[in-house]
Formats: sequence, structure tokens, C-alpha cells
Amino acid sequence: MYKNPDFPMIVLATRNKHKLAELSFLLGIPAKLLRSATDFEGAPDPEETGATFAENALIKARAISVFTGEWALADDSGLEVDALGGAPGVLSARYAGNHGNDAANNRLLLEKLAAMPGKPRTAHFSCVIALVAPDGSEYTARGECPGTILHEGRGSNGFGYDPLFLPDGYDKTFAEMSTEVKCNFSHRAAAATAMRQIMGTIFSPREPQGIFRGK
Ligand code: IMP
Repeated sequence: MYKNPDFPMIVLATRNKHKLAELSFLLGIPAKLLRSATDFEGAPDPEETGATFAENALIKARAISVFTGEWALADDSGLEVDALGGAPGVLSARYAGNHGNDAANNRLLLEKLAAMPGKPRTAHFSCVIALVAPDGSEYTARGECPGTILHEGRGSNGFGYDPLFLPDGYDKTFAEMSTEVKCNFSHRAAAATAMRQIMGTIFSPREPQGIFRGK
């Protein structure tokens, strides 16, 4: 039914302008066709009650698609540490209790790993991007970025666990890299590449133009 229609308007289930710009670039969606949930008065902001990144991304995309009657995209991401059985996982943003307290989350992560000396500090960031169609069809794409958790933070760029995360094959943490460099191989970039392939079978997304330059 949706085989190669003209690229439709897509609503991104986020109020974060940076995420809008980053996903617009990574997914090759023309900016004029991408809307944010903030463009729709009263748009829902459902609780992320899922047990997986995919469930949470779908909860958000479904709610926005049903509310707007448009195609909707949402992403959900987090850090999974092997020695902690995949924690903090879907709780990444609120690991230490309060949503978005990055300093407390990082402190707690270091405490947990300090209590397990000798255990490997391997981890990966995961991201799932969900796309929901006006007819209720659902698609998900996943990306990962493997690395190691350091013993103390380095760098001041980025957000979340960036200062503690040393991606495999690099000598800089995510927080010591520019957004442009991180965007080339991050979990979000990998998920976006997979989603572009899915969207390619539905619409005709454009190639990204040049290098991502932030907002
Ligand atoms: P969100 O689903 O993208 O909002 O991410 C949830 C949480 O996962 C964030 O609040 C961060 O704690 C963590 N997280 C996700 N992606 C990253 C990243 O690229 N760097 C650092 N932390 C991240």
C-alpha cells in the first residue's frame, strides 16, 4: 500500500530540537517534511513503560501516529553493560532515580562496577528507531556501538554516559569527540542506516547531504 508514494510528512515523537536535526540528517528526510511533536498542540508524551528499547520506541511512535494521523518516528536508546547483565538498559536516563541526572547516573554506574573488580567493563550503546504508518503498520531498526566503561569520566561534550564510554577502536571517549565524529558511527547512526533501508523499500529517502553540523 505504501510502496513508493511521494515522501510523506513524518512526525518525530520528540520535543528535542537537537534530536530532530540529527535524525533528519541521519535518515535523509527532507527537513521540510519532518515535524516535531511540539508542532501538534496536545500531542501525547506517553510513559516509557516498555521492557525493551523497541517497545519504548513503538509506544512513542504509535501514540504520535494515532494522535496526528500521520507517519511517526521515535527512537529509544541506552547503555547496556555486560557485567551488570545489560543494566542500566531501558532505565539509562533514570538509573540513579531522577530522570536525566547524568552526574548521578554516571556515579552509580562507577560504584556498581567498582564493586566487581576484575570483571570486564565491556558495554554497548543500543538504539531502536520505530516507524509507524497511519494504517498502523510498524517497523523497527536497531543499531549498536560497542565499547568499554572507563574508571573515570573524560571530556565535556555530549550527554548521558558519554564521558565514561570509550568506543572500540578509538582513544577518545564520546565526550571527547565532536557530535559530527560521533554521528558517523554511533548506535543512533547504525539504527538510522538500518531504518533508511526499511524506508527505502517504502519511500525514496534522500542521501544525507555532507556532514552533520549540529543544530
Ligand atoms: P534517549 O532514549 O535517547 O533519550 O536516551 C536515554 C538515555 O540513554 C539518555 O538519557 C542517556 O543516559 C543514555 N544515552 C542514550 N544515548 C546516549 C549517548 O549517545 N551517549 C550517552 N548516553 C546516551
